[in-house]
Amino acid sequence: MEHKIVLIPGDGIGPEIVREAKKVLDGVCGKYGHTFQYEEALIGGASIDTYGIPLTDDTIAAAKSADAVLMGSVGGDAATSPWYQLEPSKRPEAGLLKIRKELNLFANLRPAYLYSQLKEACPLRPDIIEDGFDLLIMRELTGGLYFGDRKTYEENGVWTAVDTLVYNEQEIRRIAVKGFEIARKRQKKVTSVDKANVLDSSRLWRKVVEEVSADYPDVKLEHMLVDNCAMQLVRDPGQFDVVLTENMFGDILSDEASMITGSIGMLSSASLNETKFGLYEPSHGSAPDIAGQDKANPIATILSAAMMLRYSLDLDQEADAVEQAVQNVLSQGYRTVDIMSEGCTCVGTREMGELIVKNLLAQA
Ligand code: NAD
Repeated sequence: MEHKIVLIPGDGIGPEIVREAKKVLDGVCGKYGHTFQYEEALIGGASIDTYGIPLTDDTIAAAKSADAVLMGSVGGDAATSPWYQLEPSKRPEAGLLKIRKELNLFANLRPAYLYSQLKEACPLRPDIIEDGFDLLIMRELTGGLYFGDRKTYEENGVWTAVDTLVYNEQEIRRIAVKGFEIARKRQKKVTSVDKANVLDSSRLWRKVVEEVSADYPDVKLEHMLVDNCAMQLVRDPGQFDVVLTENMFGDILSDEASMITGSIGMLSSASLNETKFGLYEPSHGSAPDIAGQDKANPIATILSAAMMLRYSLDLDQEADAVEQAVQNVLSQGYRTVDIMSEGCTCVGTREMGELIVKNLLAQA
């Protein structure tokens, strides 16, 4: 099959980790007979250095013309980089916010998977994670409290601030549909998280999610209050498959979920719109402290590329093979410095990428 993929390496370690993910995608093409056409584009600091702005119309147009975008990371060291002398709307991160908006990416997916080989990095007790966990937080990204009307005003000498949490049924329905679709590709369970005992927006959320679930009888639905979910994530993370939730709850729960894996260099993410299109990127930042030193762990980006194969290109078998290759390389004891432990072999960014490609090609 032929697909167009836009690569946006970005800043810091971005170019190194995207380079390795591309090698893995090339390996997939060779092994399975696909053709991926690549186009490279700039964002963030790299775009500021070349064009004076963090995101150009050309990058937006390239992304819109593609089946998917694979991105590295954006930003520099705020204390030393000249990018942060610019006004906020011209800084690297403004490019990131703008591209998400331009592409109408309303669904954010952050998997949290515990590799048995990296159990030591997990801060939870061994008996809690005995059977591992494999969950995915699906967060609504363009509505709710972060986008509602807000104001701060003084009345009779007392300052008051108001933020508004708004959702309409269409916004809820489209993310719920995504949640059930994604659950179908996983363990077929959706936990919808809300605060329906207090909030009207949550009661509407629950009603619409119930309605959508009628179209997915093969997917189990349960509802959970957000405070309980925050506890259950550390008490028994193995109970979750897809956790479907609104913007602010998802912001908090996705950080909690990534923390319990213990390894920032392993965490992938995806942002999707109403079509199959998606923007895939690691959850971590541009790590300027280790940029250009062949120290960055490319696995989060490689796993983001696997998500791209699965969710935007419908290449599930290929995605499984990439994830298996990562597992195999970890089982063989190879580690980048961020996940290094005693008795393992420490490798650099380039070698880790090459080992994963070799493993992918060697699979039956
Ligand atoms: P960071 O995630 O870049 O780094 C935090 C720590 O984790 C650092 O010590 C770094 O060396 C390490 N680290 C991160 N990714 C790693 C990897 N793949 N392999 C090995 N070690 C890794 O967070 P930060 O230092 O707070 O932010 C640095 C820059 O990244 C800032 O400009 C910030 O705005 C930006 N940022 C961008 C994104 C994004 O592009 N989506 C997300 C978060 C932060």
